[in-house]
Amino acid sequence: MKEMFADLHVHIGRSENGKPIKITAARSLNFANIAKECADRKGINIVGIIDCASPYVIEDIENFLKTGEAYEIKDGGIIYKDKVCIILGSEIETSEVNDQGKTGSAHNLCYFPTLADIKAFSKEMSNYIHNITLSSQRACISAYQLVDIVEKYNGILIPAHTFTPHKSFYGNCTDRLSKIFKEKFDKIFAIELGLSADTYLADEISELETRTFITDSDAHSLPKIAREYNKVLLEDISFKELLMALKNENGRKIVANYGLDPKLGKYHRTYCENCDKPIEGEPPITECPYCHGNKITMGVFDRIVTIRDKQESKSPCNRPPYVYQVPLTFVPGLGGKTIDKLLNHFDTEMTILHKVSQDDIEAVVGEKIAKTIIAAREGKVNIQAGGGGVYGKLTVG
Ligand SMILES: [Zn+2]
Ligand SMILES: [Zn+2]
Repeated sequence: MKEMFADLHVHIGRSENGKPIKITAARSLNFANIAKECADRKGINIVGIIDCASPYVIEDIENFLKTGEAYEIKDGGIIYKDKVCIILGSEIETSEVNDQGKTGSAHNLCYFPTLADIKAFSKEMSNYIHNITLSSQRACISAYQLVDIVEKYNGILIPAHTFTPHKSFYGNCTDRLSKIFKEKFDKIFAIELGLSADTYLADEISELETRTFITDSDAHSLPKIAREYNKVLLEDISFKELLMALKNENGRKIVANYGLDPKLGKYHRTYCENCDKPIEGEPPITECPYCHGNKITMGVFDRIVTIRDKQESKSPCNRPPYVYQVPLTFVPGLGGKTIDKLLNHFDTEMTILHKVSQDDIEAVVGEKIAKTIIAAREGKVNIQAGGGGVYGKLTVG
């Protein structure tokens, strides 16, 4: 068995010929560039590309396969340069009725073993989605219904960024996933934590004790790939092997989650739209203490405190560790050019974040930045929590 790195949530900005897929994502984020970035700069072995049900992207994949640079394998997935396994995925927004009888919406990550499977899925979903060419579009069905369609095409469904305020199950629809999925809840064997949550927060909800946690980047640009990722133990890279790891079967498993300190996430604390700031203080914050308005965006932390059913966070004994990391893009004073310089010297971001010594980093980018990277690695930094769509801020010393 080998240790591999997986990031299962990467978006596509444009198709090769410039057609928009996810408007808010970078133009350079296309299928071929993601494969290259993972192989050459990030050191990611398995990447889930989550906009592959768009017919424009399907066309790109078909062309990419024709070049011979990549090929499909029997156990599912597309292999690039013998280094990276691309998992074909689709993020679908489902329509739910929440606890108060109001409409809620949640994002679902759906993954498929083959191009033929996701093509068939795409075709069926175009009956429920107005514009299937675009990313993360709203479908007029619930997740309870979606599970069956995903299963029909040999896929799996994982709730995406499960606690975020606007588009997630716990944030927007329910206090229990079991109310959404009912008797199908045992098919949901993993959830994605999202940038503003971590294992310790999620383990305050008892129905999650038997579910695997995954940590992904939700990248909207190439540099953001692998800002969160999973270290997995596998025999080889394929859809089938990944599935076993997610289900904790045959010795395959997730051995560690690497992610942001949730305070750095965009939705960690409740945010007041009137006062234009995140609100610190004893959670849960459900009303602004300054203007007493209720124009707030609920924080992930505040939401979890509201819905938790455990007195303290106690993880099951097989829960892998959650390792905090500060991606290079969060390091103050570190711009794109300097990041390139570091990557040229040390190969991948993972090596820089977790392995290279302070002296070696200093030799390339100077003392100040080297100190910050090491302080971040050792957790010796201060973080002002993010909220309402604004990332947390990191300071040293
Ligand atoms: Zn999403
Ligand atoms: Zn306020």
